[in-house]
Amino acid sequence: MSRRLLLVGGGHSHIEVLRRWALAPEPGTTLTLISPERHTAYSGMLPGHIGGDYSHAECHIDLDALCDAAGATRIEAAVTGLDLAARRALASDGSAHGYDWLAINVGSVPATTNIAGSDRHGVAVRPVANFLAHWEELRAAALSAPRALELVVVGNGTAGVEVVLAMQQRIAGEGGRAHFTLAGDGPELLPAHPAAVRRRFEQRLKDCGIRLRLGQPVTRASAGLLQFADGGGLAFDEVLWLTGAGAPAWPRASGLDCDERGFIRIDATLRSLSHPDVFATGDVASMIHAPRPKSGVYAVRQGPPLHDNLRCALRNEPLREYQPQRRALALIGTGDGAAVASYGPLSWEGAWVWRWKTRIDRRFMARYREN
Ligand SMILES: Cc1cc2nc3c(=O)[nH]c(=O)nc-3n(C[C@H](O)[C@H](O)[C@H](O)COP(=O)(O)OP(=O)(O)OC[C@H]3O[C@@H](n4cnc5c(N)ncnc54)[C@H](O)[C@@H]3O)c2cc1C
Repeated sequence: MSRRLLLVGGGHSHIEVLRRWALAPEPGTTLTLISPERHTAYSGMLPGHIGGDYSHAECHIDLDALCDAAGATRIEAAVTGLDLAARRALASDGSAHGYDWLAINVGSVPATTNIAGSDRHGVAVRPVANFLAHWEELRAAALSAPRALELVVVGNGTAGVEVVLAMQQRIAGEGGRAHFTLAGDGPELLPAHPAAVRRRFEQRLKDCGIRLRLGQPVTRASAGLLQFADGGGLAFDEVLWLTGAGAPAWPRASGLDCDERGFIRIDATLRSLSHPDVFATGDVASMIHAPRPKSGVYAVRQGPPLHDNLRCALRNEPLREYQPQRRALALIGTGDGAAVASYGPLSWEGAWVWRWKTRIDRRFMARYREN
């Protein structure tokens, strides 16, 4: 009987599994992908897309094309739960999908659960398609607004900083009218980066007229008003949630062993600690043998070992252990055709860093178009 390998989510690791499957399908295996969307975003190029440097097609991967090449079927739905005992994934459209081996690579959700009203006010960066559609509306509104729009980006990490700069530059370049504020609970920008990088971005935001509101968590969002823990308020026309990575609720609710934040705990073979027939990678997974920040780099790097171990599992062969790199290079766009490279304590800046980043990103995307 054919074995069933079910991939949940078209994240950065699963696209590599599909690509490699297309090169050498595993005999006697049915491969299925469940994804609510046909096109999955490559996050590294998203700020560039917001800033107008890349088209939608240039920063999205066509999952249907990858599935076709791999002989896989894509089911257009989101998984909402697992029946781990019966080995079935339950989807948003009411369907259930049996598996022998399951791999989960669904990314994260914005960590806004402690902000009252954030589910009703503002727009979260995920789902990305929804965020990008909203961004197009905001750009149009900024062009026709009788006064400057008050736009607030919440999130003082890399994504928040890159996105606020890209948005500000795009709207200003198009002659739109908007004031931007970047808010974050940490006392400074980019807490994961060295002081030199933080200083560069503080100056850059200042030069662009982007106000900073740091050191106070947002506690509540209501119509047109953000409230902070110290009792302060901030009026807005739109708020964009780029807070850090939070876990979707369903893995823990289904009974998978998760860490205290709700991310699936995996071992060095990328398998769930509680359920050996379940693999997980990317933001949704927590590598207990080697904790790392939530970052696309690690999701990408887990792709090849995930692929190898899925094959081993299907063939009943021993799994291999994976050791992630200790630190990742971050290339952070400044929104003006330049970027800052940040690696451990080191950093560099310039238009050449942006060109370097563009080359890396375009080369990455080309791999998923050559099938
Ligand atoms: C604006 C921005 C810029 C960033 N820039 C960088 C960067 O330059 N470098 C870097 O390393 N990291 C970057 N990151 C972080 C990076 O986006 C994440 O770490 C990375 O996307 C995680 O990859 P993933 O494979 O886990 O999931 P994702 O890339 O998020 O993919 C998850 C996929 O699963 C699908 N999915 C979600 N829920 C379900 C479900 N229930 N059922 C089925 N499918 C589902 C989604 O539709 C999506 O296609 C950035 C993040 C943002 C927001």
